[in-house]
Amino acid sequence: MSEKTIIIIGGGIAGLSVGCYGEMNGFHTRIFEMHKKPGGLCTSWKRQGYVVDGCIHWLVGSSPQSKYHPIWEVLGAVQGRQFVYHEEYGRVESKDGKTFIIFSDIDKLEQHMRALAPEDSAVIDEFIAVLRRCMHFDAPVGKAPETSNLFDLLRLIISNVPLLMMLRKWNKVSLTEFGNRFKNPVIRAAFPLLFMPDFPMSFLLLTLAWMHNRQAGYPIGGSLEFSRAIEQRYLALGGEMTYKGKVVKILTEHDRAVGIKLEDGSEHFADYVVSAADGHATIFDLLEGKYVDTTIRGYYDNLMPFPPLAYVAIGVNRSFKDLPTSVGYAFELAEPLLIGGVEQKHLMVHIYNFDPTLAPEGRTLLTVMFHTDFEYWRSLRGHDAQYKAEKETIADTVVAFLDKRFPGLAKQVEMRDVATPTTFVRYTGNWKGSFEGWQVTPKTWSFGRPMRKTLPGLANFYMAGHWVVPGGGLPAAAMSGRNVVQIICKKEKKKFTTTKS
Ligand SMILES: Cc1cc2nc3c(=O)[nH]c(=O)nc-3n(C[C@H](O)[C@H](O)[C@H](O)COP(=O)(O)OP(=O)(O)OC[C@H]3O[C@@H](n4cnc5c(N)ncnc54)[C@H](O)[C@@H]3O)c2cc1C
Repeated sequence: MSEKTIIIIGGGIAGLSVGCYGEMNGFHTRIFEMHKKPGGLCTSWKRQGYVVDGCIHWLVGSSPQSKYHPIWEVLGAVQGRQFVYHEEYGRVESKDGKTFIIFSDIDKLEQHMRALAPEDSAVIDEFIAVLRRCMHFDAPVGKAPETSNLFDLLRLIISNVPLLMMLRKWNKVSLTEFGNRFKNPVIRAAFPLLFMPDFPMSFLLLTLAWMHNRQAGYPIGGSLEFSRAIEQRYLALGGEMTYKGKVVKILTEHDRAVGIKLEDGSEHFADYVVSAADGHATIFDLLEGKYVDTTIRGYYDNLMPFPPLAYVAIGVNRSFKDLPTSVGYAFELAEPLLIGGVEQKHLMVHIYNFDPTLAPEGRTLLTVMFHTDFEYWRSLRGHDAQYKAEKETIADTVVAFLDKRFPGLAKQVEMRDVATPTTFVRYTGNWKGSFEGWQVTPKTWSFGRPMRKTLPGLANFYMAGHWVVPGGGLPAAAMSGRNVVQIICKKEKKKFTTTKS
């Protein structure tokens, strides 16, 4: 039987995952990536002796205790990699110096919350009790929903009843709504800052539980190293990687995807085409909007992408060894600031005092993320001087604030770098500069509910990546790639198989 072929658009984590699983299942695959590096958003870049990490704060499935771990193992991403399990998920500091510490250890978190807010004992009871229940839940890993029959679905439901009940209740409550149940002003203000304010509590509960269980760690070496490991696995499996291969059109014949056209005019053909690139560009540009119905259009008209980021990195001649390791800090500003068209009340800071590979000895990488407005940055297009000045102002603001919080810091700054939503779009093509695809909110989409990976009327075409898994993230991207290969295997009447490196 001759080998069937798959063309994959995009060499981010989803595209690499389609490629690896495709190769493991006997397909000949080729990834076309518009840049010269793998990983897409899961990347890092070098600046003046520092490595700016642009992605992973925590990786669900980092430890062998997680059901998700075998997925990363099969992709060659975790073998030999050291993970850091932070003592703290984060700290929120109010402008009057009060601190809420979100300890990773749930016992410590409970003690701290009770000491900080005795007036909130009832809501703390509820929060800690559900967190303890979540410690027993794992991310279900199995068949793609599209390949499951009624029996599979029933088995999935029966074996995950407690998890589904938790999701049913806590998918309906946003972080902000839950925060509002606290009387204590520091905790009340902190909850919306623990991820996206409108995200469902279910997401936070599972994240905190997995941090407690040490199932969600940070990989030493950072995001590009992580992506490169999957790229190497793909190449070792026999996959073909074409860099600087920007796809400008998906070729169709009689409503069947048959190949792609690149920017250089060359055309490439395959039995299947999978787009693991930006969803909007795939549907409305590469396929010219020919394969949409009200459901697909509804996603792009009604759902909310994650906000685009102004991403500030500074390299500091200071070790920060006196601070515990943590995903991040939220420092309340004395006065709100307008940055990237959005009023900012906090500075969200990541201090990489736990990864010596990102900075020269004794020094530390810090990054600061601002959620901004895409239209604001778009309006600066063509105004280079204004754009550069805006970036400088943002970096100045960050350094000035951090110098107050960590006296002497301004004089220790050796590197400054600002990436804007324009950078994210240029580098990854993500719609409106979204850093993680679609946001999930209690009003828009249920956390965990699948989205269509096909387009109406178009055969032999699939989509993978965070634009088809609302909520996004690396596990979702990898899992969507695996699911697409499961769907293709079913179509080809092949048994889906995996191998370890
Ligand atoms: C600052 C930041 C922090 C994050 N933190 C975490 C975290 O801690 N944990 C977590 O799980 N997730 C995190 N994420 C989210 C995660 O990085 C993404 O959800 C995930 O990487 C998406 O992968 P993807 O393959 O679906 O998409 P992408 O990474 O966007 O990959 C798409 C690829 O397609 C390529 N492409 C686009 N158009 C074309 C074209 N026309 N032709 C050829 N190639 C094309 C792009 O260059 C890119 O390589 C974070 C993201 C950011 C930005």
